Amino acid sequence: MIHPNLLIILNMNMSTRNIHLTNPLAMARVFKQLNHQHTNIAFLEHTDFEIRYNVINSPDQEYKEPEGFPYCCTVHERIVEDVQQHISIFPKCCAQHAKLEGQAWFDKLNYMGLPLHTAKAVHFTEYQILNKVNVDDWYEEITQFIEYCIYSFGQFPAGFGPPLGLEDYLVFSKWIIKNNSGKVQYPKDRMTTILNYLEGYSEPNTEVKQADLNILINQYEKWLKLFPFDIPYFSPLKNQFSGIYPILNGESSFNKFLGTQKSSLITYSKLIDVLVTITKKILSSYSAYQLFQEGKLTDLEQKQLDLAGSLRRLQLDQMREEISSDQKKYIKVIKRWLKDEQSYLSEIAPILARSQQYTAFLKE
Ligand SMILES: [Zn+2]
Ligand SMILES: [Zn+2]
Repeated sequence: MIHPNLLIILNMNMSTRNIHLTNPLAMARVFKQLNHQHTNIAFLEHTDFEIRYNVINSPDQEYKEPEGFPYCCTVHERIVEDVQQHISIFPKCCAQHAKLEGQAWFDKLNYMGLPLHTAKAVHFTEYQILNKVNVDDWYEEITQFIEYCIYSFGQFPAGFGPPLGLEDYLVFSKWIIKNNSGKVQYPKDRMTTILNYLEGYSEPNTEVKQADLNILINQYEKWLKLFPFDIPYFSPLKNQFSGIYPILNGESSFNKFLGTQKSSLITYSKLIDVLVTITKKILSSYSAYQLFQEGKLTDLEQKQLDLAGSLRRLQLDQMREEISSDQKKYIKVIKRWLKDEQSYLSEIAPILARSQQYTAFLKE
């Protein structure tokens, strides 16, 4: 619901995030991907893992837990009671959670600590809001901490409903803001902005489109296949491009509480634009004309064979595989380049041959 898919970058420490695979075959698939594709990116589908709630820490060292917490006041007692109430009927509470029953990996005992966890999250959030609402970077300080709390509730595999306890966290945090919003020391506009931020998480999330990441990766791999890396000049670049996946948005934000960099996936049409740009950039880095200018144009026949081979390979790939109209955008660029190179070489080859014969004749 929150993490669309989990990108596994090699050497990521899974245990720290309390991730549990619900489909053991998925991990085998990930390792297979990493071994066979020589890439450093692989992913688990949102359906294949659960993230259990994990320990949260207070926003800073100055935070002091109230004495007797969470039985210190009616608010915190109430949070514990409400979450306990939810757990008592869980997973029969709603249709989505009901599906958890009978899953081999599901054990209700794993969620018994949630009442205290939720009370802590709400109190930490209250502390952070009231403490930071008047500082310069109030928005980042507060929303990043809220995000950290929200992530701490983990997630069920896709289709199994929202994380348990999260709704209680949101309800009580909003209540606390509304309760303090009228007070002079807490600017109303800022409090309203934070409230709206929390509201954004309360709205029912549409199921993440899992296909997105797959589509982007497949698109990129198709480009790797179609680009004329078989031309000797470009072949060293193939490894370099196999290791990158330009599927994340450039602008990413760092959450200091989570310690993670967050990036969103680029859109499908953006990826196509990127591929067209990369294609043009690589192709323009090399031409027979440039080599000629630099006096380095040799092995004309071999170069002509390379070009003809590359063009034919591309035509055959195009015939064999389904090519979408979007892929045609960069294929057109590639074909154009190959044909232009061919015609340039065939135009100058006889001239060069004649002048070489002439030079040879003069030397005799
Ligand atoms: Zn209390
Ligand atoms: Zn439920």
